[in-house]
Amino acid sequence: MFQRILIANRGEIALRIIRACREMGVETVAVYSEADRGAHYLSLADEAYCIGKAAATDSYLLINRIISAAEIGNVQAIHPGYGFLAENAHFAEVCRECSIEFIGPHHTSMEKLGDKVSAREIALKAKVNVVPGSDGLVADEATALKVAGEIGYPVLIKATAGGGGKGMRVARNDISLKSGFSAARQEAEKSFKNPGVYIEKYIEQPRHIEVQLIADQHGNCVHLWERDCSTQRKHQKLIEESPAPNLPKSVREDICKSAVRLIKSAGYYNAGTVEFILDQDNQFYFIEVNARIQVEHPVSEMVTGIDLIQQQIRVASGEELDLQQRQIKANGSAIEIRINAEDPDNDYRGCPGQITKLRVPGGLGIRFDSHVHEGYRISPYYDSMIGKLIVHRPTRKQAVSAARAALGEFEIEGVKTTIPLARKILDHSAFIDGEIDTTFLERTF
Ligand code: ADP
Repeated sequence: MFQRILIANRGEIALRIIRACREMGVETVAVYSEADRGAHYLSLADEAYCIGKAAATDSYLLINRIISAAEIGNVQAIHPGYGFLAENAHFAEVCRECSIEFIGPHHTSMEKLGDKVSAREIALKAKVNVVPGSDGLVADEATALKVAGEIGYPVLIKATAGGGGKGMRVARNDISLKSGFSAARQEAEKSFKNPGVYIEKYIEQPRHIEVQLIADQHGNCVHLWERDCSTQRKHQKLIEESPAPNLPKSVREDICKSAVRLIKSAGYYNAGTVEFILDQDNQFYFIEVNARIQVEHPVSEMVTGIDLIQQQIRVASGEELDLQQRQIKANGSAIEIRINAEDPDNDYRGCPGQITKLRVPGGLGIRFDSHVHEGYRISPYYDSMIGKLIVHRPTRKQAVSAARAALGEFEIEGVKTTIPLARKILDHSAFIDGEIDTTFLERTF
């Protein structure tokens, strides 16, 4: 087991990893930008090094600075968290070349799965359903029209290097396909320096269902059941839960088994998530793999009782998984609500500033994963998420009521947040009945 690890991240996930390590008796080295100097969570790490200016490109994304900090801090491994360098295969490779273990998958499986077209090929080989679509990249408009003609409108043009919903365009006819095709290519080139796009059938009002997995370096892989992340705004998840409501048992078992098959056939290890969309007939289709720990991992932790960060560290150190699939039960229902500092009156733009008053909820089955505190200054340089409220109860109905009550306990002054929107969602009959699809939020509010 590692004695000391570096956390190449900030905010709530840095704190989450520090906590997991303290419990395991593993020492931690934190890194921070000038904007995060003095953040309270840093004092829980054994050491902390400043690695640069506020902008992520001048600090959290600088591989050389992070490796230097790791060498000075004398760590055996680096945990990348999510975002920043977490899915950068080059970073994973550099870490290992410097004899520092990267707490994540091998860089080759990361590369193969990070590219959506090649991930689709892996899924097909593993006999996992993919969304009907083009055979690989679509090079020009004429081919795009031909593919769309074959699969039928509506279609979705997607960037192979895509992420965060960027470079995606829906086309409902030849005219919008032509304009969407070049727009998607340009956006993909601009955002990912890779203009490659492909075409998929656009599934109307799907649910987003994903499966959490953990695999070791000895060929063992288990799933921690599924999460439903259909409550999204502009393809960004707002509320996630486990188990997925109203999912037939056989579909649930199939989807989880498919995810394990895919991960095993990719030779993947460490934590990962296989994402699917589910159409209105409960047919599921693979969309992508997230080769990292995800923001919403706590809902799976709550229902299974398994600490995913600790599992990541164990398997990265070479240990064999000590989990048997049949022992992993999903107990009760867990819901996570992301609390973002965003302004509802300004199209939910980030709302940086100082938190002048903070009261957070507590009680049985209430978990608040957050690095903020009263007096904390939210920086404009990073994402707007200030915390995650996670509620765990024996039934979904109870979880929804508990989440509603917990949201009502929050008092946050100084910045605007997404709490009022979350409360409206929890009060909506479609959410209460577990009948949410990815277009619900935009259709309803
Ligand atoms: P990104 O990597 O940019 O987040 P994803 O492939 O994960 O892109 O898709 C993001 C979201 O877009 C999904 O959660 C889903 O809501 C929607 N989506 C993706 N593919 C399709 C599709 N074929 N049909 C309908 N919606 C889709």
